[in-house]
Amino acid sequence: TVVAEDVSKVFFSGSDPVWALEDFSLTLEPGSFTCIVGPSGCGKSTFLRIVGGLEERTVGTVEVTGAEHPIPSAFVFQEHGVFPWMTVRENVTFGLRMMGTSRAERDRIAEDWLRRVRLQDFARSYPHQLSGGMRQRVAIARAFATGSPLLLMDEPLGALDAQTRMLMQEELVTLWEQERKTVLMVTHDIDEALILGDRVIVMTPRPGRLKEDIEVPFARPRSIGVESTPEFTR
Ligand code: ATP
Ligand code: MG
Repeated sequence: TVVAEDVSKVFFSGSDPVWALEDFSLTLEPGSFTCIVGPSGCGKSTFLRIVGGLEERTVGTVEVTGAEHPIPSAFVFQEHGVFPWMTVRENVTFGLRMMGTSRAERDRIAEDWLRRVRLQDFARSYPHQLSGGMRQRVAIARAFATGSPLLLMDEPLGALDAQTRMLMQEELVTLWEQERKTVLMVTHDIDEALILGDRVIVMTPRPGRLKEDIEVPFARPRSIGVESTPEFTR
């Protein structure tokens, strides 16, 4: 569970304070998929970075509980999230290497994840040899492969063309349903938020506050299967 309470953040650009977030609270239940939308500059990325520990908050508390031992959250960024000097396989197992996982275990996990994102034939390729969508699949595989229960994604599909984006939305949902991670995802696209999230958080313009907290009605059917219930297909 992630509990963020009354989080505020001020940046100083020159001598002027810029409030990026104000009294923003959010609780994420384990296994939930929450999307954050809001106008550009309202503090979405700032909040994600604070939850992930990449940024200090100015005021408020953030608690991440429920993991047996603290595991760093796994990030997926819009672009430039994969290391260009590493092969696809090295990228996918980067987090595991940091955690001291053995070579044999890393290879096994990499093989599994590369198959699941359909990149098994590209293990030895470098990111510049891949399309944008493939690179994002590497970033997503890497995030899942760390084993972290919490995935923080900042517009992970934002740089993709519409068709690739739709395919990746489906892939992401499939992976999430198989793995049941807690996902917090920022997106510019309200349609995408409603397709992917079981909950959508709408923020106000800067400084970002909570504007709306929407439980998505007719969220994707979880156990019945999309094919058998076309009326729920979105
Ligand atoms: P976008 O949708 O465009 O990605 P966002 O909601 O993610 O926007 P943030 O990147 O969180 O917005 O930024 C929120 C505000 O804080 C913006 O006004 C931004 O200029 C400011 N800001 C962010 N990071 C810094 C920083 N390191 N120093 C100064 N100001 C910053
Ligand atoms: Mg942002």
